[in-house]
Amino acid sequence: MSGLDEIAKVDTEIAQVVRDELHRLRHKIELIASENFPSRAVLETAGTVLTNKYAEGYPGHRWYGGCEFVDVAEELAVARARDLFGAEHANVQPHAGAQANTAVYLCALEPGDTILGMEKIAGGHLTHGTSANISGVLYNAHFYGLNRETEMLDFGEIARVARDCRPKLIIAGGSSYPRDIDFAAFRAVADEVGAMLMVDMAHFAGLVAGKVHADPVPHAEFVTTTTHKTLRGPRGGLILCQERFAQELDHAVFPGVQGGPFMHIIAAKAVALKEASQPEFAEYARQIVRNSRAMGEALQERGLRLVSGGTDTHLLLVDLRPLGLSGSEVEEALDAVRITANKNNIPFDDKPPAITSGIRLGTPAVTTRGMREAEMVEIADLIALVVRNMGSEEVMRRVRERVEELLAGFPLYPDL
Ligand SMILES: *Cc1c(COP(=O)(O)O)cnc(C)c1O
Repeated sequence: MSGLDEIAKVDTEIAQVVRDELHRLRHKIELIASENFPSRAVLETAGTVLTNKYAEGYPGHRWYGGCEFVDVAEELAVARARDLFGAEHANVQPHAGAQANTAVYLCALEPGDTILGMEKIAGGHLTHGTSANISGVLYNAHFYGLNRETEMLDFGEIARVARDCRPKLIIAGGSSYPRDIDFAAFRAVADEVGAMLMVDMAHFAGLVAGKVHADPVPHAEFVTTTTHKTLRGPRGGLILCQERFAQELDHAVFPGVQGGPFMHIIAAKAVALKEASQPEFAEYARQIVRNSRAMGEALQERGLRLVSGGTDTHLLLVDLRPLGLSGSEVEEALDAVRITANKNNIPFDDKPPAITSGIRLGTPAVTTRGMREAEMVEIADLIALVVRNMGSEEVMRRVRERVEELLAGFPLYPDL
């Protein structure tokens, strides 16, 4: 652990935090749908001297000297992003998904313009127009929900809302929507009302890269994503757009939203994008979906209700109302048996975001650890035991043992 030793020489408290966090990751089942375990190559790149460099601007046009090597890193990241997703233009500088979205708004909109995104409670993201976010402060935000019966996107309804509010930009994609998305249908609505389309694929970018999710790029003016969720890269953001917006978009990222780019993270994005273009990554993406389907079926067989009746992606949303439980109490009970997941609102939820009626589960991290369908059935069994025996110390103890046994077969970062 030479890296940790170096930290400990200066700061034993933070060294202990890192040790504790690694221990937590190794000894818990990670089901948070937005988290993953990037490769050692990605982690190492993010911890290099590239963090030192000021490189405001873009390759070949920087405001600082000494950028000849970081320029190579950024050019590689941009070319790989374009190739991987078949996009005309890529900007790899956004520090995170939120900044990527803000930059698109700055590029495409004037303050006061109307935007139309998915309601937060239906699975949309806070950066899609909620009042607490800059997207809701600067723009006139309207929302579409889901069909009450199917709990899926309803393009009749989306078109009706769009005709009503006449948005300049429609936003597709979200954080807890478990089904595939029909981007051609979104395009048709956008065309009908003269809107541009932005797809936020933060959650499912890795599935798009692996060709197990519909591809938004041919249908949207702008596609934004994080790089640290299913894409399994460093924490960061990425924007793809049509060539005609390239210059304005780059200007919106820098100097519009950000100052100096994080060159260590951009280099790590390049590494992750290279990994994502390999056949092994496509197999990884396929296994993510096979795993979430297996987990979903096993949960249903044990009597749990899935929002929309299933999943096409890496995530599942469990409706806890039939069990008389809330998301917050189930999150806590699962954590006590070393299963990490998050409470989540479900469509038409009547409980507030701090309580919720649902729990969101995701398979990207456990799939990275090497688990397959059999392990998903085991995890579903453990979850069902917990929610059916809330408060039973005996059941909790047995589940904790089974969690430990399961994880022992799937070592995480063994040489860290
Ligand atoms: C995670 C997420 C984001 C924001 O990403 P950050 O990196 O946390 O800023 C944006 N949009 C969607 C749909 C997300 O799920």
